[in-house]
Amino acid sequence: MRFLTADYLFPLFIAPIKHGVLQISDNGEVIAVFENRSEVPQEKLEVFEGVLCPGFVNAHCHLELSHLSGKAEKGKGFLDFIGAIQQRDSYTVIEKQIAVNKAEQQMITNGIVAVGDICNTTDTLSQKQKGNLQYYNFIEVFGVKDDLENQIISDAKDLRNQFRKVAQKATISPHAPYSVPPKLMEEIKNSFSNEDELMTIHMQETKHENELFEHKRGSFYNWLKEINASPEVWNNRTKSNSVLEELGNKKMLLVHNTFSKKKYISDNYYCTCPKANLYIENALPDYSMFDANKLCVGTDSLASNNSLSILEELNIIQENSNFDMNTLLKIACKNGAEALGFEQLGTFEKGKIPGVNLIGNLDGVKVTAESFIKVI
Ligand SMILES: [Zn+2]
Repeated sequence: MRFLTADYLFPLFIAPIKHGVLQISDNGEVIAVFENRSEVPQEKLEVFEGVLCPGFVNAHCHLELSHLSGKAEKGKGFLDFIGAIQQRDSYTVIEKQIAVNKAEQQMITNGIVAVGDICNTTDTLSQKQKGNLQYYNFIEVFGVKDDLENQIISDAKDLRNQFRKVAQKATISPHAPYSVPPKLMEEIKNSFSNEDELMTIHMQETKHENELFEHKRGSFYNWLKEINASPEVWNNRTKSNSVLEELGNKKMLLVHNTFSKKKYISDNYYCTCPKANLYIENALPDYSMFDANKLCVGTDSLASNNSLSILEELNIIQENSNFDMNTLLKIACKNGAEALGFEQLGTFEKGKIPGVNLIGNLDGVKVTAESFIKVI
């Protein structure tokens, strides 16, 4: 049994508590939260400088791209980034495995306990089976040419089933509005059953996506024409959000939203990946447009980020929004756990096993570039 206390405790299901105490069992299960240090045996109190919060949920990552760390040049834009990603297969299995292992270790050190992870391959499967972190695996589907949807969806189902066979959560998800024509979107929708709690999609990561749908022009339009994409991709879609209707009422996690507008924000979960947005497009979303109770945060992959650290992402969000520390930590813990359906995670409610993070070196209760994270 442990009694943990710090300058502030952030239970996230109730307001922050100055000098609050968290009681956890030896296996990390929350027993109780106390308002006052005098309520607990003094000799057992472990006192920390900083704040205590639950383990972080990284709502968007591509663990299988970890070996591409540093391969995409910073600030070159999205089409250049796609070029770098196309080199993904020119590495050995061992190189990929080592990178996946190191990346997961980095997430653990940085206080992450669960991940929403995009998968095109089984490259991460053996690492995930070790059970170090909890994963919701999104089996990514794309293909802009006509008449390939049957093959694409059948391959995706095979991949999804390989993850499910080893008790991993897995759901087929479209890559992005501009890479999935309506027919393939329909097949994805038809693949959902009750097991599929959530799907995800990259949304409005670049302004070229808006140009494509709203004006049928721009560099995405030219690029899609060049690779002989089906005009169905843009013909009857007037905005990125058009695809939400095609996907029915499935619970959704929309990722990036860098070039979205308040009028397009729906009653879904949203995920921001600020460091990746700065890395690729040098732009950030307008944080005032989101419902802070539905906003999650992700690192994206090491191909578009130099670290897998939720704390670093929070620092950028804080600098560019009016969110206070309690809201930032909800975004980092509670909302992601809710979106991904990890009921044991996200808050210090009794009975959960959410992990405990200490954030130190704060400026009052504000994160700074010098703040650190320690798993308690
Ligand atoms: Zn992504």
